[in-house]
Amino acid sequence: MNFADSEIVASILQKEGHTVVSDIEQADYILINTCAIRDNAEQRIRKRLHDLRALQQRHKQLRIGILGCMAERLQSQLMVEEENVSFVVGPDAYRRLPDILTQVRQQGVKTAETELSTTETYSDIEPVRVASNGISAYISIMRGCQNYCAYCVVPYTRGRERSRDPETIVAEAHSLFNQGYKEVTLLGQNVNSYRFSQSDGSSVDFPELMHRVAEISPLLRVRFATSHPKDLSDRLLQVMAAHDNICKCIHLPVQSGSDRMLKLMNRHYDSAWYLDRIAAIRRYMPDCSITTDVIAGFCTETEEDHLKTLDIFRQVRYDYAYMFKFSMRPDTYAAKHLTDDVPDAEKTRRLEEIIALQGQIALENNRKEIGKTFEVLVEGESHRSKEQLFGRNSQNKVIVFDRHNILPGQYVQVKVTDCTAATLKGEVVTSRQ
Ligand code: SAH
Ligand code: SF4
Repeated sequence: MNFADSEIVASILQKEGHTVVSDIEQADYILINTCAIRDNAEQRIRKRLHDLRALQQRHKQLRIGILGCMAERLQSQLMVEEENVSFVVGPDAYRRLPDILTQVRQQGVKTAETELSTTETYSDIEPVRVASNGISAYISIMRGCQNYCAYCVVPYTRGRERSRDPETIVAEAHSLFNQGYKEVTLLGQNVNSYRFSQSDGSSVDFPELMHRVAEISPLLRVRFATSHPKDLSDRLLQVMAAHDNICKCIHLPVQSGSDRMLKLMNRHYDSAWYLDRIAAIRRYMPDCSITTDVIAGFCTETEEDHLKTLDIFRQVRYDYAYMFKFSMRPDTYAAKHLTDDVPDAEKTRRLEEIIALQGQIALENNRKEIGKTFEVLVEGESHRSKEQLFGRNSQNKVIVFDRHNILPGQYVQVKVTDCTAATLKGEVVTSRQ
């Protein structure tokens, strides 16, 4: 999401005559787009700011600004704590950036703009694709979140949920396809609650939006993230199943396998509901991959709760998981009403157990793919060898194969011959443009 936001920022600034430079030594401004989801995300930014001091010594005209969630959370206090920061701009104030840069440069004043909006979606701004591979792009379809999961800072840093006009989303996807892009990922904190009310009183929901984007071309792959289990409808699954170019991969964050924890986390579903949704996915799309997010050591989590998390991992058999240690965030329900009472060493142990189990499951899942042939969208050169390329199948699994004379952006049929827990290896069978 930050990646997509940085592209919006680049677009706003380019219109005012600024350009993105690839060499940091040439920059007049450095804008750091930040995350506040866990404390370690913020600590990394503080370290980055510290490391930039030497550059600032050499280039006295250089100004540094902090954008995004950490800017929103800390506001002008951040400029007091970090002296080398000249401006702080929250996620709904990016249109103000050209003026802010001028102010900072001409008047030498420090500025913080952190007002949140209930309507801003930057829908009229065509993002500048910074550092893009020219093949896949993100499209932000909604902003904000008001689910208020007890551990999560997002509703406080990104404001109320609002959906972007579907016409502008379809137009952006179309334009990307015409430029040669082959894949778009529609982004939102909870895409299932996407709903745009039109002037005639009707509304467009997420399944309808997916249908419209998928109809652009069978050669344009469509992905999305993230779905909240409480809102994962059968209609969305039907739309996915009906379009070959909607990728068969669903990211469905579980967070915990314990009903007591899920209730305390304010997730609005229990493990039975979650497993019912998994069964529905498998019913409509037996070949769909399923990935998740999980938090180890949320407030009051016991060994019994933790075992239930391991249990749900065994039942679902995820293809991939983002696994985190709970990090207490200021302002959240947890910070106000609960105690961060699982010792850090215990959180680490539980997390490591989840990671080990997931590694084993991912390897077993991948082994089952050996012998199958998948359509792969080629993304680029493999990191390991210039003689090999990599791409992804519909299930979002990375497949590495010999280069031959294939180019990035092509679709190829690849037969899987081997695997690790993270990657499939294969041989090209046929290719199409
Ligand atoms: N909107 C998405 C995810 C947003 S944040 C959703 O609801 O699924 C991405 C992930 O970060 C979350 O799914 C959660 O697993 C993790 N996360 C959020 N707050 C956290 C915290 N305080 N400590 C540890 N992990 C957290
Ligand atoms: Fe955070 Fe929950 Fe919103 Fe996801 S749904 S962004 S975890 S509050």
